[in-house]
Amino acid sequence: MKLNCEGCAGCCIDWRPLAEAPSEHERRGPGEPLDDAYNLVPLTRDEVARFVERGFGDALTPRLWRVDRETPGVVVDGVRIAAVDGRPAFFVGFRKPPKPVGPFETERHWLRSCVFLDPETLQCRIHGTDSYPDECAAYPSHNLDLGVETECERVEAEHGGNRLLDDAPEGSAGLLLGPQAIGAKVFAYPDPDELAGTVDRMRRDALTATDRAAFVGVAVGSSPGSLSVNEDRTAAATAEVLDADSWVGRAIDEWVDAAGTEGSLATDPPNADAVEVARGAPETPGWDAVAGERHPDGSLGENG
Ligand code: SF4
Ligand code: SF4
Repeated sequence: MKLNCEGCAGCCIDWRPLAEAPSEHERRGPGEPLDDAYNLVPLTRDEVARFVERGFGDALTPRLWRVDRETPGVVVDGVRIAAVDGRPAFFVGFRKPPKPVGPFETERHWLRSCVFLDPETLQCRIHGTDSYPDECAAYPSHNLDLGVETECERVEAEHGGNRLLDDAPEGSAGLLLGPQAIGAKVFAYPDPDELAGTVDRMRRDALTATDRAAFVGVAVGSSPGSLSVNEDRTAAATAEVLDADSWVGRAIDEWVDAAGTEGSLATDPPNADAVEVARGAPETPGWDAVAGERHPDGSLGENG
């Protein structure tokens, strides 16, 4: 699969403020997400557990979905949310703070971006590491498999240029589509009553660290192919998330404090190296180092 990712990161940034046409096409799941994140990367149970073990629990956030009356669901805070056997269904992905980014040769704007995106180079800080999510590694081939438009094509349509240089899908066998996703990528929260207040905060983009930790804990306590949740594993992971104090969490706080209105010009943003690298973020190689290829190793991935 050949892609031209230099100066793009369209799949890692919420660039809707820079687009003429509205887009909801990347938003997957059983209903309408309660949050407004774009391009959320759903992580597997093992990936979530690995981030928590490594002290990056503060990089993670859940997603619930509003559903209609025909779809299995449960009502919490007056909202019917997707449920499996009466248990609220959720994804866990990365948080998306505003960062000063200038994709597609635009000026820098405050746009919500993946926590691991280097806002200077528009490269992924964890590409090529064992933390790199399967979902990112399978993008955009996964969309091509499903026959849905890719973010690459959308960037071409809105901003010109060639991004998707070869549109042959490479298969998405590892992406856990269907019922086997339960407990492996789609998690089930054991007690909907515990989510009173949380659902409302998710809708208002006001989740607390405690809210996020509870979901992440349940994801780690889950078992693939099952609705059962191990209470001890859940409690231990929840505590680890609450204790997490990674460069990611601290950088998010600084970006949120510094950011202007979403989509506004970033006229005098803080230096990204000072916000992220000085706190421990891995540096990215720059595009010269990868000779315009998407990834240094030429492999498939969301952004390199
Ligand atoms: S490729 Fe990297 S920066 Fe982009 S969404 Fe995936 S983890 Fe985030
Ligand atoms: S895969 Fe590459 S070209 Fe496609 S949207 Fe992501 S960064 Fe852009």
